[in-house]
Amino acid sequence: MSRAGGAAPPPPAVRKALEPAAPRCYRHCTAPVGARRIRSTLPGTVTVYACPGGAVSVATYAEWSRRDPSSAFRRFLVGRTLPRSLVQEVDLRGATRHGPELGLPAERALRRAASPRSVLVVYWRVYPSKDPDGTERRLFVCYRHGRAEPIFFRAPTDADRPRCPRCGPGGRTTRRTRA
Ligand SMILES: [Zn+2]
Ligand SMILES: [Zn+2]
Repeated sequence: MSRAGGAAPPPPAVRKALEPAAPRCYRHCTAPVGARRIRSTLPGTVTVYACPGGAVSVATYAEWSRRDPSSAFRRFLVGRTLPRSLVQEVDLRGATRHGPELGLPAERALRRAASPRSVLVVYWRVYPSKDPDGTERRLFVCYRHGRAEPIFFRAPTDADRPRCPRCGPGGRTTRRTRA
């Protein structure tokens, strides 16, 4: 038995059930939020939910096991967030999800498992914050660095597809010109 207690990614039916119920961007645009699975060495599933402009709604980590995966997910995020201090313990919330609340297909998939386990989901949600000059900033993600390297950073809320600090000097942002 491995130290992680046989931790595994949740079955596909369960992953589907874990998708957010209101997939629209919040306070940035009205585009639908898309889910992107991130390649990682963690046993579970890392998913980032962001709009096409890069504004992050939530990043989640789902693992099918008996241990609390919060600290492993936190380490994953810290290595991909600029600055690292943006990853705050208080913004990480863990929840145990059981079969019945996930719907029938997920429940069936969990019931077929050899040993009963729960799906542990950690949610990372960073709320917009204001600079001293009143500029509101929120969390964005940059996908230009490979499937295993989403880069999380803050940019003004009205920015569209802002470049992350790793993308270039100054990490310039482009402002939306559309209404
Ligand atoms: Zn948006
Ligand atoms: Zn970048």
